[in-house]
Amino acid sequence: MSGTVLKKEQDFGEDPLAVRESDHYQHEYTESFVDKWDQLIDWKGRAEGEGRFFIDLLKKLGKHKILDVAAGTGFHSVQLAKAGFDVTTVDGAKEMLIKAFDNGRDNGIVLQTICADWRWLNKDVHGKYDAIVCLGNSFTHLFEEKDRRRALAEFYAALKHDGVLILDQRNYDLIMDEGFSTKHKYYYCGDQVTAEPEHVDDSLARFRYTFPDDSVYHLNMFPLRKTYVKRLMHEIGFQKITTYGDFEANYDEKETDFYVHVAEKAYDDES
Ligand code: SAM
Repeated sequence: MSGTVLKKEQDFGEDPLAVRESDHYQHEYTESFVDKWDQLIDWKGRAEGEGRFFIDLLKKLGKHKILDVAAGTGFHSVQLAKAGFDVTTVDGAKEMLIKAFDNGRDNGIVLQTICADWRWLNKDVHGKYDAIVCLGNSFTHLFEEKDRRRALAEFYAALKHDGVLILDQRNYDLIMDEGFSTKHKYYYCGDQVTAEPEHVDDSLARFRYTFPDDSVYHLNMFPLRKTYVKRLMHEIGFQKITTYGDFEANYDEKETDFYVHVAEKAYDDES
């Protein structure tokens, strides 16, 4: 990628708790953090935790042409490509996309990658997709409501008339209302890595990630409430939203770490 400047270290400035910006993810996924990301998510453990959930769901919905808009290091793009889906891999952070491409190659797959920010997705991503996946608690990086609305509208526009958006999020309601606890089984599975909130208020969840070599990284995220995300999706035009808790249709909100929302464009009575 020409003109790419890879950032070496995270930079939250003098007052990290003041950093509440949608653009800041670009400064958080630095080269060294990206190098460590796969220790954090542990592909094997994550594959076991998720099972065939996304593959089976997309097959059941009859979707084939998939846009992975928050590729990160490529876990879902690779899983879906291996399962036979036609996948296009997008991320706004070049460091992540480079790693995703390398991981694809190591798995025998040449990922089609596009560097694009969700808020201007259709400027760089052309064509219409059966499904968009935005996974790994990524939507939380948008701090302003206008950015969330803009991103959802761009996702909506990139979908075919009966397309579906699959977007997940941490159970921030639980963290905000009751404090943090996690089964640590689904997304962040590396057992040598700790991922914990260092600070939480109504508009910031700052997580600290500590690795076995004692290196420490942070992510500043917006704590999304479940009903709020669903309301935004409805307001953008998605007709039917089904929410799963830790990959189950029946779940206890007090025991759930992550939600997956499946937002469909089609009206129920469409022929
Ligand atoms: N899906 C991957 C996973 O589960 O391992 C990565 C998750 S990581 C928490 C969030 C990803 O979203 C990062 O790769 C980041 O660069 C990307 N991202 C955040 N905000 C974005 C935006 N506005 N446009 C495009 N990508 C964005």
